[in-house]
Amino acid sequence: MKKHLILLFSAALVLAACNAPKAADESASPLDKVLVRDFFPDVANNLPVTEVTRGKFPIIDMHSHDYVENAEQIAQWVKTMDAVGVEHTAIMHCSWIGRPFEEVVELYAPYKDRFRFWCCFDYSDMSEEGIQKACDLLERYHNELGATGVGELGDKGEGDTYARPVEGRDIHIDDPRIQPLIRKAGELKMPISIHIAEPIWMYLPMDDKNDGLPNGVAWHVDTTNCLGYNQLMVTFENAVRENPGTLFIACHYLNMSHDWPRLGALLDKYPNLYVDISARVAESAHTPRATREFLIKYQDRVLFGTDNGFEPEMYHGIFRVLETNDEHFYVPEYNYHWALSGFNLPDEVLKKIYHDNALRILNEYK
Ligand SMILES: [Zn+2]
Repeated sequence: MKKHLILLFSAALVLAACNAPKAADESASPLDKVLVRDFFPDVANNLPVTEVTRGKFPIIDMHSHDYVENAEQIAQWVKTMDAVGVEHTAIMHCSWIGRPFEEVVELYAPYKDRFRFWCCFDYSDMSEEGIQKACDLLERYHNELGATGVGELGDKGEGDTYARPVEGRDIHIDDPRIQPLIRKAGELKMPISIHIAEPIWMYLPMDDKNDGLPNGVAWHVDTTNCLGYNQLMVTFENAVRENPGTLFIACHYLNMSHDWPRLGALLDKYPNLYVDISARVAESAHTPRATREFLIKYQDRVLFGTDNGFEPEMYHGIFRVLETNDEHFYVPEYNYHWALSGFNLPDEVLKKIYHDNALRILNEYK
C-alpha cells in the first residue's frame, strides 16, 4: 500500500513537471521556429553511405568553365582529374567567368590534350556583314585555336546573356539574324551547348506550394519583361528543328528534369539534340526512379558534365548519385530541402553517359 502511494506521488511530480508553464519564447511549436531554409536534418536511418572517389569508367566532362586563377591551379585540376578518372574536360567560354578566349587557350596550352575549348558567338555587329565576320571568326577559332564547340550560350529570357565579348541582349536562339552562325557551327561540326531557362521551381509562385522553394527563391526568374519558360522552349525547339545539320547540347537536362516525358518527346523528335546532366544533381536525384528510367531509355543521348568548379568532392557527389543505390541523403550545398537518392545505373549506361556518347560526338564533330 505504501509503495503504491509513493508511486502515485512520483507520477504526480512528473506530471507537474511536464505541465509546468513554459517561458514565452519556448511556447511556440518547433514547427513555428524551424525555417525551410535551415531544414537539412540528420538522417536517422541506418542506411549505406557509399563514398565514390573515382568514376567507375573513364569520363569526359562535357560542361565546365575556366574556373582557375593561374597555371598552378590548372596543374592541380589535372591531378584531380587523374584521381577521379576524368580524361578530359570541356571548358566553355561565357560572360560570367574566365578570361578572353585566346587567353584561355594559351593558359591551358600545356595541358591541351586534357581540355577542349568552346567559344561564344560574337554579336558585336548584328548587321549582315557583321554576322559574316562573326562566322569567319568562328571558323578561325575552330581552325587556328582548336575550338571544339560553341557555348555556353545562355538564355534565361533576355537573350544570350552568356555571350562574350558582348552580351546578346534580346537575341534568342531562333533569331533569324544568327541562323548563319548556327549553320556555320554545323558545317564546322561544332556542337552548340546552350543553357535555356532555369528549373521550373524558379518560375513558380514563391509560396508554400513551391516544392523547390529554397533554391527557387535563390534563382527566381522575373519574367515581367522577358520571355517565360515555355516561350524560351519554343525558341529552342525552333532552332533545333530548323538546323538539323547542327548538333545541340541542351545543358542541365534542358532545365526540364521535372518533366521527363516532355524532354523525352523532344529527344525522340530531334536526333540532333543531346542533353548534359551538369549542375542538376539535386533536381534529378530527388526523383531517382523516374530519372533512372529516363537515363536508361535515353542512354545514347545524355552527356556527363559538372559545371561546378574542380574540387574532388564535387566529382564524388555526382558519382555517388549516378553509381550507387544510396538513399535518403541531404546535400545542403544544393540548397533544396529534398533528400536525394542514387540512380544505381547499369554499367553499360554509365559507360555511355560518362564517356562513349561524348567520344562519338567529339570524333564526328572535331
Ligand atoms: Zn555552365
